[in-house]
Amino acid sequence: MSKIIFPGQTIGIIGGGQLGRMMALAAKEAGFKIAVLEPSMDSPCGQVADIRIVAPYDDEAALEELAEVSDVITYEFENIDYEGLKRLTQIAYVPQGAELVKITQDRILEKEAITSSGTPVANYIAAQNFDELQQKIDQVGYPCVVKTARGGYDGKGQQTLHSAADLEKAQPLFEFSACVAEAFVPFEKEISVIVQRNMQGETYCLPICENIHVNHILHETIVPARIENFTAELAVEAAQKIADAFNLIGTLAVEMFVTENGKIIINEVAPRPHNSGHYSIEACNISQFHQHIRAICGWPLRQPKLWGPSIMVNILGQHVVGVTNSIAKYANWSTHLYGKSEAKHNRKMGHVTIMTEDLEGTLQEIKQSAIWAD
Ligand code: AMP
Repeated sequence: MSKIIFPGQTIGIIGGGQLGRMMALAAKEAGFKIAVLEPSMDSPCGQVADIRIVAPYDDEAALEELAEVSDVITYEFENIDYEGLKRLTQIAYVPQGAELVKITQDRILEKEAITSSGTPVANYIAAQNFDELQQKIDQVGYPCVVKTARGGYDGKGQQTLHSAADLEKAQPLFEFSACVAEAFVPFEKEISVIVQRNMQGETYCLPICENIHVNHILHETIVPARIENFTAELAVEAAQKIADAFNLIGTLAVEMFVTENGKIIINEVAPRPHNSGHYSIEACNISQFHQHIRAICGWPLRQPKLWGPSIMVNILGQHVVGVTNSIAKYANWSTHLYGKSEAKHNRKMGHVTIMTEDLEGTLQEIKQSAIWAD
């Protein structure tokens, strides 16, 4: 059942990180109130919320409280408690449902679901234990990447195997969960498409992102992605196919590899706004966060339009001092910091978005700033 949620009503968000914060800030512009469920006391989203429920994601009383104070509930990351979310769908309005969270929490279910949508993934096998991996690995061959089915992110829970001699290196991964082993994709580029849909079935993709990772963590996003037109068409087609197959409501980020011949292979999906979409706050007529709020509130969606080329650079813990010391230098840098108190190494603390008519010159400017030297 589709409902319209109006300004003055309360949006409940499960998860208190930066994605929740940027959703909340977008929603507050329209006059919504925000309730957040998050175990830590001082969270990026908690700082801007009207109601803070400080409890674990599976705390029954806390979930009931969230249901009571919220007119609609969404989530800002997929590793929340699936059973808790499922329970919320029975006692509160959760237009996104819980199934997509179940699928994306588990790489095995995710790969099966992507495959059955008719879009390509790297050749892979699933293994419940190390013995099964040893038995099946020849179906994938080397080099390959073994990934834990559950709980991995930013390259954590992953091991690249170059030959059979490396196989033992994958054994510790099974302490966490079952694994998938997938063929290593010799990609030319990594891109992402953020697709968003409301209950009325209106579906839009944001302009395609070109993503550059350093140490498996997103470093830069360049928009528009520097890819051929036919590759862009394949990418959007694939994202829409997956959104259809998943009956998407809300936001899905689809990460893809672009191969040498310009074809695409789906790497993974995330059922929420995505780090690579942060550029849309400045560079589009509708940000991924505004569109997400519109989608879950039953508002009509807007056709995204790029105002101009842009680059987003992540600010990790080790970059915070460099960025803050450089604020006076760069009038065209839009600096976002998420309010995290401790600037730990490799922790996502914020990002900078730069709109530019000279992508190559700006990439040079970022390098020359020396802020991202490590
Ligand atoms: P993931 O956590 O699956 O997004 O993986 C993190 C990063 O590891 C990706 O963005 C790629 O840079 C790299 N990676 C993951 N899987 C593969 C693969 N099958 N082939 C090549 N690189 C990969």
